[in-house]
Order: sequence, then structure tokens, then C-alpha cells
Amino acid sequence: MTQISDTPEIGAASAAGGCHGGAAEMTRAAEAAGQSELLARYAADYPKGPHDQPQSMCPAFGSLRVGLRMRRTATVLSGSACCVYGLTFTSHFYGARRTVGYVPFNSETLVTGKLFEDIREAVFQLADPAKYDTVVVTNLCVPSASGVPLRLLPKEINGVRIIGIDVPGFGVPTHAEAKDVLAGAMLAYARKEAEQGPVQAPRQGVSGKPTVTLVGEMFPADPMSIGAILEPMGLAAGPVVPTREWRELYQALDCVAVAAIHPFYTASFREFEAAGRPIVGSAPVGVAGTAAWIEAIGQAAGVSAEKREAAVSRIIPAIKAALAAKPIKGRVTLSGYEGSELLVGRLLVESGADLRYVGSACPRTRFSEEDAQWLESKGVHVQFRASLEQDLAAFAEFAPDLAIGTTPVVQKAKQHGTPSLYFTNLISARPLMGPAGAGSLADVINAAIGSKGRFDTMKAFFAGVGTGDTAGVWEGLPTKPAVGKGPATILPTAKRTKGLDTITEDAH
Ligand code: SF4
Repeated sequence: MTQISDTPEIGAASAAGGCHGGAAEMTRAAEAAGQSELLARYAADYPKGPHDQPQSMCPAFGSLRVGLRMRRTATVLSGSACCVYGLTFTSHFYGARRTVGYVPFNSETLVTGKLFEDIREAVFQLADPAKYDTVVVTNLCVPSASGVPLRLLPKEINGVRIIGIDVPGFGVPTHAEAKDVLAGAMLAYARKEAEQGPVQAPRQGVSGKPTVTLVGEMFPADPMSIGAILEPMGLAAGPVVPTREWRELYQALDCVAVAAIHPFYTASFREFEAAGRPIVGSAPVGVAGTAAWIEAIGQAAGVSAEKREAAVSRIIPAIKAALAAKPIKGRVTLSGYEGSELLVGRLLVESGADLRYVGSACPRTRFSEEDAQWLESKGVHVQFRASLEQDLAAFAEFAPDLAIGTTPVVQKAKQHGTPSLYFTNLISARPLMGPAGAGSLADVINAAIGSKGRFDTMKAFFAGVGTGDTAGVWEGLPTKPAVGKGPATILPTAKRTKGLDTITEDAH
């Protein structure tokens, strides 16, 4: 096995298709290779939208990151070298500080089944119980389409759990949902272990109170805020799924209720329901969201009406005060692919923002219903499985003072001279829950809206430079040919625009 972090192995077979090769062809190949059942399950769990392939990063980055964040977990990728190179590059860019294992292949090892034997050998080499609790092997697009049978790997070697998952871009639409593929597979494994006998206790010991498991990655302070909200009901915040350690999975399953903070974890929810745990959607964001969430979680956990009211009256005044202290003024459009877009939308509305559009690359699920209905009742257009085209159309239609979005949306807004913020880096990485969340968005959003003057200045300064026929690096300005008169001609340097002349002459 090659360890990519040490010696990148880039010479193996390239993806004969993949994200740019046509999802339909890959799907046909996968079905022919006996993967129909898996694809049918993914189609049900992660229904497709207007786009049939990822419009953001490779989905497998989601599951890769979940594995890389877990203690004592080894991660192995099986896929085209170009995909693995991109995935490992991105994971190290985001500070993985872990080796990513790679089993290279070529067309011969792929079709003869030797690739599976190589993966099996790699897993046996890795499965050292002194180092690992778990080895996760992930089939990327080409091995998934070719039916490389990870299900035939041993379930356990020397006490080390072996988990094989397929995360093809043509079956799992977003990296957010890929996190669920791995989290769900781990919960399924842990649930079976717990059914068979005693399992390892949590690192910090068993909670003295019934716990609520939180599903969805969130800002590190948010579970503490949720714990404070639960406290008057005699409940405590349990672990966050995806977990950071294998034994947290048992603790997650051993809960009184599950909070579907991120509503797209369909495979994980299936495991909690199989364990008999009730699941509650939405989250304690803003005044209305927190009051409704306390009521729903309290009821699911069998808490008395008196205690539910006590929790509401303790927390709501603080949230109201935080929202009132930091109002947001301005028209906003919002889009992202993390799954928390609707929660942020609720906070924006309660902060006073004129929110017109919320687009999420994630699908509509039963646990996003309440947030969608609340936002729609406030006149916000909610678009699930939003495509980039829909996000851009919303920007064009609503002409916001601030566009919060993905990289291409932010780029478009900046070109237009509109302040904009990246959802993933600047918005979803903030506290959202309880009083801390209520005040956290306003500063960054109001500062961004307030920067409009700077955008106007920059737009005026660079007007005509780098757009249309002045885009790119040219010796002279290209001119449009007369129709039917052959290729473009180049004008002498003297006729170029002033801004471009200056730049070019400096360069020479
Ligand atoms: S594994 Fe990811 S990068 Fe590679 S072809 Fe599939 S979707 Fe694209």
C-alpha cells in the first residue's frame, strides 16, 4: 500500500469517467457490476436534484474528513490517482495531519479482481490493535462503478473493526451526505456490537442524566449552549455525530432522544430509529426556534410540561436580549452546502434581516420540514438541492445588499460590486445555538454590508479592465471580426484601454 502523504502515487489509472465523464455511464457500469441495490439505497437516502453530479467538491471529501477526525482510525482510499491526489491535498489543506492510505490500481488489477486482493492485503497490514480501533476503506467512483466488493472484507481483524464504504460522486450528491454514509455505517456496526453484549463506556464516564445526541457537525461551543438549554429539563447534551472516537458511538446510541441539528443524516437516523430513539428536527436557534425545539425535545424525552416551561422561561429572555442588541439591517440571499443553511436563515430573519432566498445543496427531508415552513411563512424562498444556477438567479432577482454563498456565488457577487461572505468559512463556522448564536452573526454581517462603499470604489477604479475583450493577457486588444471575414486581428498597443496599457507596460 502506498501512503499518499509520504510519497504521492500519481501514475496509476485515471478515472475513466468520474465527475466529468457522465454520471449515467458510471451508473450503468455500477449496475452491471452488481451495485444496483447500493445505488437504489443511495437514491432513496440522497435523492437527486436538478444536477446529477456534484457542483462543489468531490463528495468523498465528507466521509474522508469524518474518518480523519476520529481517534485511532486508519483511512484508506481506493480510486483513481487523480481523485486521491485531490482528496488528500484538500484534507491536508484543512489540517488533517494524518496519513491517508492509498491502494493504487490499473485497468488490469481492476478487471481481474487483483485490486480487491490488494485492498485486503493492505487492510491486514494496517489492522494493528495497538494503533487502531477501526480501518475505513472507501471506494471512490471507478472502484464503486466496477463493483470492487468491499463488503467481502473481514468485519474485524485482530479486534480492529473494518468498515468498507462506497462513496461515488454519481450516487452521493454532496460531501455533506457523504459524512452520513460513514457515520451511518459506523452506527450500524456499533449498534450490532451493543446488541451482542457490554461495550466500552464513554471516556468521561456515563452521564448521570438522560442525554440528547446531537447529529451534525457544529461550532465547538454549540453543544455547551445546547447543554445549558437542556439542563432545566434534567437532560444533558450527548455526543455529536459524526463522533471523534469509536466508543462515543455507543454513547450516541444510548440516548433518550436525537436532535437532528443537520437534517440530511438519513442513514444515521435509520440506525437511531432501529435502536428505538425518537428524532427531533430543527435546533435551538433564535426565539421561535428555541421555544419550539425545547417543546419537541422535552416531549420526545418524556419531560413534564412544567420543566419544559422552566427551560423556555430561563433561556428565551437572554436570546431576545441578544437579538435586540445586535440587529441586522439589509437584504440578504443565502446559499451553502453544509446543511445548516436553514438554521442560519432563521437567525437572520429574527435578527431583522430582509432575507429573500435560502438555497441548500442538501435535499429536503422530514427533519428540515419545520425550518422550511417557518422560513416560507416569513416570505423566504427556500430551495433544496439548489443548483449554482438557482443561487445565481436568486442573486440576480433579489439584488441583495449581501450575498452569503458558495465560492462561485461570492465571486459573482464581488464582480457585481456586492458585499459577500463565504457560507462555509465565515458563517457556518460560528455559534448558532442559544443566546451565543443570537448575537454572533450580526457583527460579521453588518461589517460586510457596511463595506459596499469600498466595492463601489474598486468597481469604478477597475471599470473595463479584465472583463469582456480585455480579459486575459494580450499583446494588443482583440477586435471582433466582421461576420464571415476570418479570425480576430490585434490592434496596436497604443489603442488599448488605459488600465490595461499600464499593467502591460509595467510587466514589460
Ligand atoms: S471520486 Fe470524486 S473526484 Fe473522483 S471522479 Fe468521483 S466525484 Fe470526481
